[in-house]
Amino acid sequence: MKILAINAGSSSLKFQLFAMPAETVLCSGIAERIGLEMGIFTIKFNGKKEVLELPLTDHTVAVNLLLESLLKHEIIADFSEIKGIGHRVVHGGELFKDSTILDAEKVQKIADLSALAPLHNPAHILGIKGFDAVLPDVPAVAVFDTAFHQTMPAEAYMYATPYEWYADYAVRKYGFHGTSHLYVSHETAKFIGKEVADSKVIVCHLGNGGSLSAVLNGESVNTSMGFTPLAGIPMGTRSGDIDPAIIPYMMQKTGQTADEIVNDLNKKSGFAGVSGISSDARDITSAVANGDEKAKLALDIYTKRIAQTIAAYLVDLDGCDAIAFTAGIGENSAIIREAICNRLGALGVTINSEVNNATQGKAAVISEPTSAIQVVVMPTDEEVMIARDVMRLAF
Ligand code: ADP
Repeated sequence: MKILAINAGSSSLKFQLFAMPAETVLCSGIAERIGLEMGIFTIKFNGKKEVLELPLTDHTVAVNLLLESLLKHEIIADFSEIKGIGHRVVHGGELFKDSTILDAEKVQKIADLSALAPLHNPAHILGIKGFDAVLPDVPAVAVFDTAFHQTMPAEAYMYATPYEWYADYAVRKYGFHGTSHLYVSHETAKFIGKEVADSKVIVCHLGNGGSLSAVLNGESVNTSMGFTPLAGIPMGTRSGDIDPAIIPYMMQKTGQTADEIVNDLNKKSGFAGVSGISSDARDITSAVANGDEKAKLALDIYTKRIAQTIAAYLVDLDGCDAIAFTAGIGENSAIIREAICNRLGALGVTINSEVNNATQGKAAVISEPTSAIQVVVMPTDEEVMIARDVMRLAF
């Protein structure tokens, strides 16, 4: 059975086609620059890659091109082979505690949540409608970045702000990257030989965006992103947590609007803002190796804040079986993993540098056998989770 996993942005549409239940990836790719004068369509299959440059007027055009490419490259013989479509949706608010089969009412609810994710949810709707126009009879499932964190207790998701902010305006911690936190926490528990239902895992999803989660017996009980993805640890271009009083202070000092300051916190902070060099962890670690002081500061702030969040989650979980590193940095940067773990001496964490240095993009235990907590590298796979949810809910 063939299932498509889709991640639609405002001008892009990423896709992976799976053969289920084997979870084999048949092809993957991206349509970019949708709505601009010239679009780019890239598809990878069987070790081959095709890149087309052509106008992609809207998401429906991109969907049609994708389906025609599947036929052209004989990845499918007929559209009817596609039995289900899973759509990544960033914000499910408090309405969606699990993935769900889409109908017109639920699509409207996702649209209604756009106030909480103005850049993302409208783009997902474009993707959902694009497929609905071309494959109206194929079941479509929405998989939410927020859903996994809906199990957090109120003491974790409530801010200590006036209660009406929550009651009247839905101000609370939602958390993001939930599909990754779910996949990685469960896979990590299994990898170290624990039952998921009897496990305590701290997941460090460290990509260009980054968040940590505390996962108790397979359920999220805390996470570092908040009302928006700006909260928590510093990231490639995001500040993470700051004193909110800085915002009006900087508005007054610079004459910028609140939106402009928040844009600086989202796009000009983190690695990029502190180092003045780059948002990319590889550029930061190589600048550190060349003696750059600001790059070192950017990295030190980053690893300190991650280590502190891990320590905090040890309290939430009342112990911890495993700390898992995932996403671009977590899976690939031995230097950053080591710098974080070196700050966890008080927790009895020790890693094996040799194993750590030899681990890139594959699952491995990188801690010493004597370490108080096992440290694991676990590659994430949000797309396979989307395909699994389509199977679970639609069949
Ligand atoms: P996104 O949040 O965009 O999905 P990714 O999970 O792809 O991000 O992570 C991107 C980050 O991973 C970048 O900071 C990049 O430098 C880092 N990264 C990717 N590969 C490596 C590598 N081999 N070594 C160190 N860092 C890496």
